[in-house]
Amino acid sequence: MRNSVTVQIYTGGFGSAPERFDMPAIKDKLLRICKTADVACVMIGWNPDARISAIMDLLRGMGIEAHLWLPVFSGWDGLSPLVGRHGGPVRQDYRAENGERFDFGCPADPQNVRFIERVIETFFSASRYDGVFLDKIRFPGFMSGLQTVLTCFCPYCSELHGISEDLDFSEGDNPLHLTAYEGLRYKTGNPGVSRLFDYKAKAVTESVASLSGYFRSRGLKVGLDLFAPFLSHFVGQDYGGLAPYADYIKPMFYRKTNAPAGIPFELDVYANAFGGGPDAAAKRKGFLLNMLKADVVDSGLIGREISAIRENAGCAKLYAGVEINYNEKIAPVTARYIQESIDVMRSADGVALSWDLCSTPDENLDAALECL
Ligand SMILES: [Zn+2]
Repeated sequence: MRNSVTVQIYTGGFGSAPERFDMPAIKDKLLRICKTADVACVMIGWNPDARISAIMDLLRGMGIEAHLWLPVFSGWDGLSPLVGRHGGPVRQDYRAENGERFDFGCPADPQNVRFIERVIETFFSASRYDGVFLDKIRFPGFMSGLQTVLTCFCPYCSELHGISEDLDFSEGDNPLHLTAYEGLRYKTGNPGVSRLFDYKAKAVTESVASLSGYFRSRGLKVGLDLFAPFLSHFVGQDYGGLAPYADYIKPMFYRKTNAPAGIPFELDVYANAFGGGPDAAAKRKGFLLNMLKADVVDSGLIGREISAIRENAGCAKLYAGVEINYNEKIAPVTARYIQESIDVMRSADGVALSWDLCSTPDENLDAALECL
């Protein structure tokens, strides 16, 4: 049987200047992928002003499904904010180099779910697409520090009000009092920490269930872009809970991406969020990796994560995400890294060739295709 892949094409953010697409290059790359593998879909997004007609025509002509790639709880003016303990919007300082926005609204607020439905209805023509690929369905991680992770205190998040009595962070190697990592979740010895992350998972799952119902009733498939499981717990993504609402899920096993959702980035911001300087941060990272039975985040850990997702994610198809695009600063991806990653992804339903075909060098694409 031929291998199955999904492919991503990034067209810029909301409000960014429309890019010029090198159509012959896109066509050539897609044809080469099709020779080796079945393309389950191309996720394309999310600048509504991008001139994508030629790409959409190409996909139609090749019989490939087009899914709208859309960020959900971050990056839109008009989302109801995440509220801090003081009752006002919580500060979210992180600014990405490429201008991509990571300012999150509250995932529990039903107005934000309605907002995204209006975004689709206003700026996109849903009937052009076969599915939607939902990105940023989560609370923020540790990138803007601990205060942001301790949200939200809006009226919809009342289960978290008064949580401070139960919440206790140690300043040592294990600030969240984690005791085990099992079934894609961490156990913790502190009831407040447990309440915080259990609540986040429930809030995100309920909102995704609602959005998924909205899209499926319009005949669209639903895909979810998720953190690697060992990081997803901290942002409210529960694989088992979310899977029934997805036709496919894509864990982002980005071991080279030094930006949000990238594994090195997220591990660093976690380790630094609790203070104490570089030594303390290194020890925290070491403690977490030890719990994951790894010295470093290597392909062995990714292989174990994929097996665990298989056991927990029901019928949703699993496309394991590996970045094949190249960026000197934030994605220094090599051919060898791509092959080593794909080698441990064989028990998934396929590989998600992430996160932008247009900025994927031929050498990297060839490396991926060689081992599919
Ligand atoms: Zn809230």
